[in-house]
Amino acid sequence: MVAISPPSKVLVTGANGYLATWVVKKYLEAGYSVRGTVRSLSKSAFLNDKFSDYGDRFELVVVEDITKDGAFDEAVKGVDAIAHTASPFHFRVTKPDDLIIPAVQGTTSILNSALKHGSNVKRVILTSSIVAVYEQTEVPRVFTESNWNNAAVEAVKTKGSAADPFTIYQASKTLAEKAAWEFVAAHSSEIPWDLVAINPPWIWGPSLSPAPTLDDINTSQREIYDTLTGARTNAQLQGEGSWVHVAVVAEAHVRATHAVDASGQRIIVTSSSFFYQDLLDLAAELGIANVARGEPGSTKGIPFVINVETKKAEELLGLTPATPLKDVLAESVDDFKRRGYPGF
Ligand code: NDP
Repeated sequence: MVAISPPSKVLVTGANGYLATWVVKKYLEAGYSVRGTVRSLSKSAFLNDKFSDYGDRFELVVVEDITKDGAFDEAVKGVDAIAHTASPFHFRVTKPDDLIIPAVQGTTSILNSALKHGSNVKRVILTSSIVAVYEQTEVPRVFTESNWNNAAVEAVKTKGSAADPFTIYQASKTLAEKAAWEFVAAHSSEIPWDLVAINPPWIWGPSLSPAPTLDDINTSQREIYDTLTGARTNAQLQGEGSWVHVAVVAEAHVRATHAVDASGQRIIVTSSSFFYQDLLDLAAELGIANVARGEPGSTKGIPFVINVETKKAEELLGLTPATPLKDVLAESVDDFKRRGYPGF
């Protein structure tokens, strides 16, 4: 693979999204040029203001329907790399295809466009997820990049629209990432580019978008908001997850663009595991007023069931994303306050 370096041009899909806005920022700061795709220019006007200092190193193009064949044919022309972040991440689903079709077809559509019209493209970075890696387990397990969440795919096949929305989301990310690797394997003799998948858990930290109302908050920031404002039962607060700072995931995309050894790799980028109760205990320590309390201290010392390897992010991207959970919580709450969200 030919090494990519600034001022190469990167296509970032879904550029107005919570993560993608940070990805664009990090590429521009690193000296790359960025072409962002959005569904609506009016909804994304804030990006032109935010990145106006970068002049013609930043441009936006409209791709209205990412699932259409040829949707990205024009957008990929002249770019050296592609960061494909656009994919639905919400739980307002009535049937699995609400998430699975845009996730899978959005991915194959951009890879097809890169195959046919991306003669300069040398690398594609796919924003996958840790939910494409781990599956639910009753006994403690350590997951690595060699694991796949086939359980979610099977559950959705069996239950169809009765599957819970989070499982449907997990299946959408698993199927989309598998489709990408299968595409690369099927076209290996024709494509001058390689693939890297980034697999983050819950991404937290301040949003760069205006997101003026709570309705516009993205799903992962909403996870913190709902926990702090008392939307979880005590039983749910005993649930666990893992998280990483949004700036770190964005930086991972940039480093995955030029790290030659990242070629063909899935890379888990995670900071640490947490119990939902921990968020409430840390909010209390931070003196944040009016937040739910749950059962303080009830998760102290309990081992996590889902554990993940983080070696590759360090070895291939030089990332050790060890931000304290307390810090990202404080940053997110400051963001909620700035935006005047109810309860803060
Ligand atoms: P956002 O909802 O903030 O952004 C999603 C982006 O994808 C938006 O630009 C959105 O466009 C676009 N998009 C969604 N659905 C479609 C569709 N059907 N057709 C075209 N574009 C679409 O999400 P995040 O920033 O949180 O997530 C970005 C990526 O990161 C996703 O791939 C997600 O799966 C992945 N991810 C996110 C994590 C997190 O905790 N946030 C964790 C792990 C992975 P529009 O604004 O027009 O709807």
